[in-house]
Amino acid sequence: MSTQHLVATSIITAVLSSMLLCSCRDNTPENRTPMIPSYSVPASIPSYSGDRAFALLERQVAFGPRVPGTEAHADCLQFFRSFFDSLGIDTELQSFEFPGYEGETLPLTNVIAQINPGAKQRILLAAHWDSRPTADREPDPDRALRPVPGANDGASAVAVLLHLAEVLVEHSPPVGVDIILFDGEDYGREGDESMFCLGSKYYAASLDPSHPLPMFGILLDLVGDREAVFPMEEFSRRYASDVLTMVWDAAEQQGLTRFVRRSHSGIYDDHVPLNTVAGIKTINIVDAELVGQNTSDPRRQYWHTLDDLPSQCSPAPLSDVGQLLLSVIFGMHTTEHHEIQ
Ligand SMILES: [Zn+2]
Repeated sequence: MSTQHLVATSIITAVLSSMLLCSCRDNTPENRTPMIPSYSVPASIPSYSGDRAFALLERQVAFGPRVPGTEAHADCLQFFRSFFDSLGIDTELQSFEFPGYEGETLPLTNVIAQINPGAKQRILLAAHWDSRPTADREPDPDRALRPVPGANDGASAVAVLLHLAEVLVEHSPPVGVDIILFDGEDYGREGDESMFCLGSKYYAASLDPSHPLPMFGILLDLVGDREAVFPMEEFSRRYASDVLTMVWDAAEQQGLTRFVRRSHSGIYDDHVPLNTVAGIKTINIVDAELVGQNTSDPRRQYWHTLDDLPSQCSPAPLSDVGQLLLSVIFGMHTTEHHEIQ
């Protein structure tokens, strides 16, 4: 362990613990999260292209595994910058360092893109863009040392949000939308929660307490499998049951049958720090049975293996999730007048 490692650790620990203390005092959802505005089925929503989202999934995978500290990770970050720049969207890169398991310093960056930045009533939409450094669910120990391609675990959810940004530039939404691509979600070793969700923990701990919070958040993870099913995940229900109900009702109204009413045990993901540290009511749309390879379908048992490839995915689930997000966004009735961009 280097001196630099120790210093970085203590600085981050100090920042996180001071923010956690603050969070105990006044960052609870009850105190800082605004009321969820009323939702009704929008008369029409812009169209969403699953094919375009799928192309954006393939584009990310083509860089190689986006493992922090690698060239592929740096190249993909540059791609995101150019992507949002070309759309004319204000983007903040929230960069920070974190000490890795082997004493290395992980260069991490959250990408924060604001659509309709003047709007006070905002929705947060998030996904993680990093890839897992080791395919530790591979039975073969040599293969288990290689990084995960992350077509579904990472790229699928980011792809949905990238294309959503393209749609929202063409069709100005009635609320503000913050698209956040978190880094360092999938770095940790199984069972070590302290090393997962590094980007969302940093984001949540760094929020300016004088700023109003988004009304609610929706996290996407593992949304691209060609037979994706989205149950109601336990942490989403525990922290944001009203958001969960609203979104699943919207899915039903849109005829999106992948969103099922079945409940599923909690999955530790980026929505947990958003709820518990930032106080932003956030749900997770996640193909939950993929996690832990908790599915009887052998084809779908590729979580954290080298088989997490674009061939497991298809445009249809990406389109369903994109359409659902659009229906939620355009179904919001806010009390706020804001300038159309
Ligand atoms: Zn993962």
